[in-house]
Amino acid sequence: MQLSSYQDLRTELISRRITCEKVVLDYLERIDRHRDDNIYITVFHEQAVEKARELDKKLNEGGVPGKLFGMPMAIKDNISIKGAGLTCASRILENYESVYDATAVRRLEDEDAVFLGKTNMDEFAMGSSNENSAFGAVPNPFDKTRVPGGSSGGSAAAVAAGLALTALGSDTGGSVRQPAGFCDIVGLKPTYGRISRYGLVAFASSFDQIGVLARNCDDASLVLGIMAGKDEHDATSSHRDVPDYMADMAAVKVDGLKIGVPKEYFHESLNREVGEIVRAKLNELRDKGAELVDITLPESDYAIAAYYILVTAEASSNLARFDGARYGYRSSRAEDVLAMYVNSRTEGFGKEVKRRIMLGTYVLSAGYYDTYYKKAQQVRRVFQDRYREALEKVDVIAGPTSPFPPFSIGEKMDDPLEMYLADVFTVPASIVGMPAVSVPVGMDSRNLPVGMHLICDFFEEGKLMGIARHLQRR
Ligand code: GLN
Repeated sequence: MQLSSYQDLRTELISRRITCEKVVLDYLERIDRHRDDNIYITVFHEQAVEKARELDKKLNEGGVPGKLFGMPMAIKDNISIKGAGLTCASRILENYESVYDATAVRRLEDEDAVFLGKTNMDEFAMGSSNENSAFGAVPNPFDKTRVPGGSSGGSAAAVAAGLALTALGSDTGGSVRQPAGFCDIVGLKPTYGRISRYGLVAFASSFDQIGVLARNCDDASLVLGIMAGKDEHDATSSHRDVPDYMADMAAVKVDGLKIGVPKEYFHESLNREVGEIVRAKLNELRDKGAELVDITLPESDYAIAAYYILVTAEASSNLARFDGARYGYRSSRAEDVLAMYVNSRTEGFGKEVKRRIMLGTYVLSAGYYDTYYKKAQQVRRVFQDRYREALEKVDVIAGPTSPFPPFSIGEKMDDPLEMYLADVFTVPASIVGMPAVSVPVGMDSRNLPVGMHLICDFFEEGKLMGIARHLQRR
């Protein structure tokens, strides 16, 4: 049985018209049928069925079903589940097993979610197409010659293809939102610090956030509400109370809503159809009483440059731990300590990861630190001020999620700078740390999905999702 919202599935499960076991077996069967699509790196065939049976038993014995009772979920393979693989789609962690649960995972599990497996991704979450994976590319479910976006490409494709109802991804500069846009689903990145990063393999720690991929805004908000909140294992997790996102969403009215539309987002390089579809959707909201406010964010041109300096700097430091001694792969050519480090890293990491480690080491080196790293930090501050000022005047900032529709597999692999441009609209919210979402708003003339990207002020996830809900296609 394939239901498109968790509420519908839950009704069936709680009324016992269907069992968790049946639901999970159906999903596993579909996953196996789509094995060639490379969406999952690991499938929990036994564990998922076992968990489903436990849940059925609990219900039959009169137990209270958790808030995510029987929700079939996929987890990106850079988020820890104790005892399961944690490859980050890298050779270097190919045989590594998690020794603890991520806090987010723990909280989902405590509410009776069922994990179906771990999904494919760009190696260490570095990429926009899922092509930088040691396990190979993932085709876009809407056109198999094209990419699903990245780096959470496996999670997005899983939800879009019905191989999971919802999925976790991680978003450092757009990795939940951009693939959601490419796969016609909802992708939410919360405020930095809203969800604990404990158990998420670090890429760029001051940007990384776990996010949710779902078929609709209600499911995404439900899952967010379970994971959000203070965690003593992550000092950057926020103390703020977690609001009732469902109630906050329901309170959002289109009438009187002020939508900021930055002119820089509708640059001439924007794909024409993407621009038209997003514009048309904004006009629909205007016709329902929203006010479209022209705003300007002149620094937008510097977003990609600042982002790639800051995240590569943090990545070069975070990835130093993969040295052949402590985790995962060790080269057989390890005659001495230096050879062990060098050969393990040379053989274990892929091309993009190496590029970023080198770039990050360079921008942090004495003599270049002030010119690059420090400058980029200052730019980050300016972005924070500008977005804050903008959001004092409007409720939300809206634009396209990606400047182009899903591109062909291989198309941008030889040109990293072209690839980096895929994130031009998603990166600013990550630089400032604000919550943002991609919501599906239409299909172009080739039947490729187009997403709209919305940014709200810090901790306004309820409002953000309430606005997105008015936009989502039924
Ligand atoms: N595509 C961006 C990058 O390669 C974003 C990645 C991410 O959000 N993890 O850095």
